[in-house]
Amino acid sequence: MSVQAAVAAAEQTHDMKFLGGGTNLVDLMREQIEQPDALVDITGLPLSEIAARTDGGLSIGAGARNTAVAAHPAIRARYPMLSEAILCGASAQIRNMATVGGNLMQRTRCMYFYDQASRCNKRQPGRGCDALEGFTRMHAIVGTSDACIATHPSDMCVALAALDATVRVTGAAGERSIPFTEFHRLPGNTPHLETDLRAGELILSVELPPLDWATTSVYRKVRDRSSYAFALVSVAAAVLVGDGRIEDVRLALGGVGTKPWRAFEAERQLQGARASVDRLRFAIDAELAGARTFAHNHFKIELARRTVVSVLGDLLGLGGGR
Ligand code: SF4
Repeated sequence: MSVQAAVAAAEQTHDMKFLGGGTNLVDLMREQIEQPDALVDITGLPLSEIAARTDGGLSIGAGARNTAVAAHPAIRARYPMLSEAILCGASAQIRNMATVGGNLMQRTRCMYFYDQASRCNKRQPGRGCDALEGFTRMHAIVGTSDACIATHPSDMCVALAALDATVRVTGAAGERSIPFTEFHRLPGNTPHLETDLRAGELILSVELPPLDWATTSVYRKVRDRSSYAFALVSVAAAVLVGDGRIEDVRLALGGVGTKPWRAFEAERQLQGARASVDRLRFAIDAELAGARTFAHNHFKIELARRTVVSVLGDLLGLGGGR
């Protein structure tokens, strides 16, 4: 099958899903949360290449397996935060099956979303949200709404948000590119609408810009177990220092947001600043000033604060005393 044939097949059915690695979609179908009328198998499409771009960046095909992306020499050398983020996710077996496109499309692991006896606006729009008055230890503190407070589960997407990636897609109206930070939506009143994809659109690739100073980037994940656990807080960061000042910085958070959370406000507070622990604390406090916590997740504010200061402090060589 060709890409064009897959897109054409998708147009034939209103409620259709593309099937890649199936590591999330098949689970959701088994639980009867996803019940598409049709699946279009895209595992045979020529979308698994990882190739250099003419601008010096990298293009990662949507069908590339997570394991292949994490192990790719150019990604390990030039964008280590991305390789590290992927290796922090799921298990080796799942990473061998899971694709880049599927990672972008995976759905929340909110326990109420999976429990058919619970009310969930994401599963059944307008029904209500049992998480709001429920057990919220794993839930979000930024980007939430009165309709949904579920976290986005991906590690890889946190690194892609930090790296200013773009998502190349195609559909009946042709190709287009979506900035990664705009690909996932905030829940608002429509938490069932999770991405900017239009009906029938297929992800072709994720494009990485040439960010030379990302060679010293880091992804750090804090979780309950050392493997096969979702983030309580994670941090993807890269920093460019010159003459004791922060010339440029990329910072994104996982485990705290309803989407992979690019910390634009913290970056603004750090750009051009003299590197110090106090400045790092000030920046992350500014980022989280609007955070809203729930019954069991207030700890995420201090955990995010400490993790960001630790990661950026290490990248900046600020040493102990943190
Ligand atoms: Fe559903 Fe979101 Fe509420 Fe979880 S937080 S129950 S996903 S609406």
